Amino acid sequence: MITINEHYLKLKAGYLFPEIARRTAAFARAHPDARIIRLGIGDVTLPLPPAVIEAFHRGVEDMADAKTFRGYGPEQGYEFLIQAVIANEFQPRGVELGDDEVFISDGSKCDSANIQEIFGLDNTIAICDPVYPVYVDTNVMAGRTGAADERGCYDKIVYLPCTPQNHFAPAPPAKPVDLIYLCYPNNPTGAVAGRELLTKWVDYALEHRAIILYDAAYEAFIRDETIPHSIYEIPRAREVAIEFRSFSKSAGFTGTRCALTVVPRKVKAYTKSGAPVEVNAIWNRRQTTKFNGVSYPVQCAAAAVYTDAGRRQVRERIDYYMENARIIRDGLTAAGYSHYGGENAPYVWCRTPDGLDSWQFFDLLLEKAHVVGTPGAGFGAAGEGFFRFSPFGDRDNIQTAVDRIGNL
Ligand SMILES: *Cc1c(COP(=O)(O)O)cnc(C)c1O
Repeated sequence: MITINEHYLKLKAGYLFPEIARRTAAFARAHPDARIIRLGIGDVTLPLPPAVIEAFHRGVEDMADAKTFRGYGPEQGYEFLIQAVIANEFQPRGVELGDDEVFISDGSKCDSANIQEIFGLDNTIAICDPVYPVYVDTNVMAGRTGAADERGCYDKIVYLPCTPQNHFAPAPPAKPVDLIYLCYPNNPTGAVAGRELLTKWVDYALEHRAIILYDAAYEAFIRDETIPHSIYEIPRAREVAIEFRSFSKSAGFTGTRCALTVVPRKVKAYTKSGAPVEVNAIWNRRQTTKFNGVSYPVQCAAAAVYTDAGRRQVRERIDYYMENARIIRDGLTAAGYSHYGGENAPYVWCRTPDGLDSWQFFDLLLEKAHVVGTPGAGFGAAGEGFFRFSPFGDRDNIQTAVDRIGNL
């Protein structure tokens, strides 16, 4: 008899986005004339930059000619992209990386989901709450947790509550943990981590021989130049941190798929008897066995992000979204809502008014303003009482949505 991996049965059903879609569709059916505006999605809306499209086309043309055709590429990514990433993303911030420390992939979702499988099942995991659900669910699937309680919190995970008091950026816990997921700039709270806080985390990881998984998918949205873009800007982070970067939100690659993971050679995990093992070699082994690389035209397209035109066009897109975020923030302020984020991160994290829970506020916004957002409770128990607004969308729609919220 074939048995199932029962850890999957512990997962809270993919509830958040299907439930948003269900309620929105039901409302639209009952009110066919309502012009619903969606500020709920975590997906970009502007097309790929022209410089990227041009390079993408050139990559496709190369595939059409026997002289330039490429079959299987290196699983770790082509040198031309790895070197462009190092020269443009890291060297200008004083971070030196070897070519073999950067792994090109088809997404930070996959990498941040897959990385846990190279670590032991008895590690203690620390995860922020609220959080990008991938970190929690993949550890549940692997069997690192117990069952969920009625609030959706899993036994054996160490949750780090993110609250206005800690600026949604918690300090290391008092107890030792082994694997720490951090995401800054943050989805969903829009919080950022400064040098001082990241230094505390790096020192903690060094002391406890822990590893930090640092998701920097939104680093391109940082405006305040004192905020680190990479955890490797912190001394000795290269001994304890793995960093995820993605072209998805910066250059609009959500449907094109390209990202990268940095695994410095100095990062070590240990056998039960305490012998150090190079994590870079294990990740390389994992990738070469289970992954066959990102397609050549996509890597050509990603490298074009670092041309002069590509850089300028990416900047224009980020500026557009951040102006949308400003419109949302100013509108919420004028309407009397408390809110956070949206200054060095795209998302605006709003406190629900009048003691409404986050689904009640969702229904109110949908029914009275015909605006769809994301209930904070969908990102974790500590997200209750908050609501996420996304600035990815058309400027006029965002302005209209904000006006409607102001008139509630
Ligand atoms: C969007 C997002 C990513 C990017 O995922 P890709 O698979 O690269 O598209 C990673 N982390 C977080 C927190 C995100 O919101």
